[in-house]
Amino acid sequence: MHSLASIGRACRRSRESWESEEKPVEDYINRRVYSVPPPGDTMTHTSLEEVEKRLASVHCAICKTNNFGVDRRTLQSDGECRGVCLKCRYNFPVYTDMDFYLRTQPDIPYRLKEISCPSCLHRGVSLDFRITMSVRESVYFVTCTACKSQFPERSSLEAFE
Ligand SMILES: [Zn+2]
Ligand SMILES: [Zn+2]
Repeated sequence: MHSLASIGRACRRSRESWESEEKPVEDYINRRVYSVPPPGDTMTHTSLEEVEKRLASVHCAICKTNNFGVDRRTLQSDGECRGVCLKCRYNFPVYTDMDFYLRTQPDIPYRLKEISCPSCLHRGVSLDFRITMSVRESVYFVTCTACKSQFPERSSLEAFE
């Protein structure tokens, strides 16, 4: 019943040493089984529960609703996973390892300093995670460094036009 194959797939990029520590956990809300990485790996990333909650502030590229889940079976050791629209099943990549992203994209920190907060109008945010909703729409989920309010910021940086 429980698909061990899908667990194995999700872990294929995990470090060898984890294999023995991983235990399937029943998720009673989503009715599916996934493996929980040992503490210490994803702790520096935004948690997937948090990601799901904040995805509700954007709309599906296809059906325009805003109910999303994160498919935990797709979580990779580099923090990438798939967000799924709960209505039309459209799915898109979610990237949670922003340390790596900021290291490899040196212009992003400058852009983050220019984003203004809709609540307090302070300019300057920190980047929590990002998604690519469609080829033309990349969204940054950011936190205001002054008042700590969280909001999504559309980015056209990755549009290749
Ligand atoms: Zn949808
Ligand atoms: Zn603010």
